[in-house]
Amino acid sequence: MEKVIIVGSGCAGLTAAIYTARANLSPLILEGKEPGGQLTTTTLVENFPGFVDGIDGPTLIMNMKSQAERFGARFSYANVEAIESEGGCLRVKVDGEWVATQTLIVASGASARYLGLPRERELVGHGVTSCATCDGAFYRNVPVAVVGGGDSACEEAMFLTRFASKVYLIHRRDTLRASKIMAERTLAHEKIVPVWDSAISEYLTDDAGEVRAVALKNLKTGAQSELEVKCVFVAIGHTPNTKAFVGKLDMDAEGYLIQHKGTQTNMPGVFAAGDVADHVYRQAITASGQGCAAALDAERYLANIEG
Ligand code: NAP
Repeated sequence: MEKVIIVGSGCAGLTAAIYTARANLSPLILEGKEPGGQLTTTTLVENFPGFVDGIDGPTLIMNMKSQAERFGARFSYANVEAIESEGGCLRVKVDGEWVATQTLIVASGASARYLGLPRERELVGHGVTSCATCDGAFYRNVPVAVVGGGDSACEEAMFLTRFASKVYLIHRRDTLRASKIMAERTLAHEKIVPVWDSAISEYLTDDAGEVRAVALKNLKTGAQSELEVKCVFVAIGHTPNTKAFVGKLDMDAEGYLIQHKGTQTNMPGVFAAGDVADHVYRQAITASGQGCAAALDAERYLANIEG
């Protein structure tokens, strides 16, 4: 019987791991399909307090993991497939096997969303991606496109200017959703060309099956055009990773977990933290804050049931 299982190893999961490990609860962290979470696909994090000159996302995550391990946290490259609660006993199905635990902290985060166009999934890695940090360097001195108008799209576009000859920022409206500072910086960059009021209607490929261009539709005029780009970086937001909890944990219409009191979900002993339950703030620091709160809630829950 585990005392604490933590699902997910992004900011929320790792902060919960540091707190519960330091409380001598020897947490087991199931790292999930995207170990380290979204910060591992980002570059410089400039707004995590305490780092005057910023810190690399992957470095920040590695530091948090080492910090948790120092206090006895255990990590496993495993996925949660289902959970159940019977007579006050929680069970988690981990890669086909049921494991009993007294508490569970769900910090499984959210994953990048794609456009849902024909052949999109098969083109991932062949000119369609959601991660500039991972794939940007493959596209040197060629034109690329970023889709989206939020902070992620701006960040991706700025990062890609290091490699690409030109970065088209394709947005479905004519104003960016991104924060003012990010939007201004992005639109002022000489390599970034905004393509307003537009959506990709088709990925066009060459004989080798790699993206060579996109078919565009102007959403205001209906005009169709073709834009030559070697890669499309999709940055249109995220979907919460809650499939394993459907029917068990309360969720909103978009699938985000609902916290009832503090980080407590509807199932006793199960707590939710970070992007899996937060579609409003979605910052590294807010995810960490929630990870801390979930750890404290789990500790109190354990203290209560142990009398
Ligand atoms: P977001 O703010 O939700 O923006 C998503 C963008 O994609 C929006 O511009 C949206 O258009 C567009 N979009 C959504 N669905 C689309 C579709 N099917 N087709 C075309 N476009 C679509 O997501 P995000 O940029 O990933 O940011 C998420 C959160 O993380 C935000 O709170 C952001 O501040 C934060 N963040 C912060 C930083 C930083 O501070 N350095 C960096 C990255 C992210 P509309 O505008 O028309 O809705």
